Amino acid sequence: MATQDKTKTLAPGITQTQINPYAMMLQQLDMVRELTDIPAGIWEILRRPEKSLEVSIPVTKDDGSVEVFTGYRVQYSSARGPCKGGIRFHPGVTLDEVKALAGWMTWKCAVVNIPYGGGKGGVICDPTRLTHGELERLTRRFTAAIFSLIGTRRDIPAPDVNTNSEIMNWIVDTAGLLSGEAVPGIVTGKSLEMGGALGRREATGRGIMFVTLSVLQRLGLDVTKTRIAVQGFGNVGSIAAQLLSKQGAKIVGLSDVSGAYHCPRGFDIDDVLRYVAGSPGHLLAGYNGHGVEEIKSPELLTLDVDVLVPAALEAQITAGNASGIRAKVIVEGANGPTTPEADLILGERDVMIVPDILSNAGGVVCSYFEWVQNIQCYPWEEDETNQRLGQIMQRSLNEVWSLAEKREISLRTAAFVLGVERVATAARLRGIFP
Ligand code: GLU
Repeated sequence: MATQDKTKTLAPGITQTQINPYAMMLQQLDMVRELTDIPAGIWEILRRPEKSLEVSIPVTKDDGSVEVFTGYRVQYSSARGPCKGGIRFHPGVTLDEVKALAGWMTWKCAVVNIPYGGGKGGVICDPTRLTHGELERLTRRFTAAIFSLIGTRRDIPAPDVNTNSEIMNWIVDTAGLLSGEAVPGIVTGKSLEMGGALGRREATGRGIMFVTLSVLQRLGLDVTKTRIAVQGFGNVGSIAAQLLSKQGAKIVGLSDVSGAYHCPRGFDIDDVLRYVAGSPGHLLAGYNGHGVEEIKSPELLTLDVDVLVPAALEAQITAGNASGIRAKVIVEGANGPTTPEADLILGERDVMIVPDILSNAGGVVCSYFEWVQNIQCYPWEEDETNQRLGQIMQRSLNEVWSLAEKREISLRTAAFVLGVERVATAARLRGIFP
């Protein structure tokens, strides 16, 4: 397995400081161009989102004042099926970030071969500074603003950073009121009582667990002797940490926006989860379990571990810190956590990276199951969901791994080649209207 791609060079003129997520996603895409025989015209289609909508969202605050927020929904590609991807609420949201995330969703759905294109949404806001009522009004007004784009067969949102099942419930309710009929399949990640799927909340973390266990096995490493650091303790990082520790791995590093913690003997993850459930803002700040010491946040990424799971935001592993990373394997829980520059540095050092568009696909795979159940009005048992999720993750890892071995390329390059070729084939078969 090559961790390094001989063909990889950065696009000329792009330096680290200029990188924004969309430029990063395009760089990753352009790096695989010469490994495919996709015609030039189709390639140009793949480099642009189909549709980007920017909306203003006026919200009446609890004190009676009005604040106007900005939100986006980007449909990157519908070549393989309806667009699919989450909605994030974060102060750092930009149109370019949403475009990048919509692109990554497109390649991700193709890598795991589910019948979707890719999309993404975002609202520039800090949800910790909104009351519950303000958050609900923001969500409902945003839903109304993007209502012309979304739909069960058109574009299906889901949770992402700082959004959850309650927010998805408000979306499905608002969309139902606006359409005058029940539309459970218009959004995934809902509460069970609203048509959500058993296992959806844990699905991204579970997918990361499946992929990590399989990669450790392929590398001849014993999970019970594996030390893991997880950056980000939200829905993805916390569940991945919990499930991997249940498999016997030692979680020795944890962090979130409020701080980073090191526990060489291994965290008691259930204890951490109990603490976070009762802490202000559900953050790690102040956690002081047995043998736990607080460290500076950047140190989390360079801890002496076997596996690093970046499960926070984009561009965390950069040219600035890649040479300090000591993990043998990086399993990407976030979307776009590693910049292309860092990829090159880590490749030269033979660090294996399991790329986001494969490793964090468990969430959208389970969203697909939820959508299928909604369309058929026939819910599944949790065991069935988890078993099918495992099958799809395993099959996708096998496909990416075999391609990487055959062509002597990294797992990221192989995942991009596989995903992008599938999207290109669909785009070519459709032809160009008119
Ligand atoms: N936000 C998740 C992702 O980035 C899930 C998207 C979905 O389920 O549609 O993959």
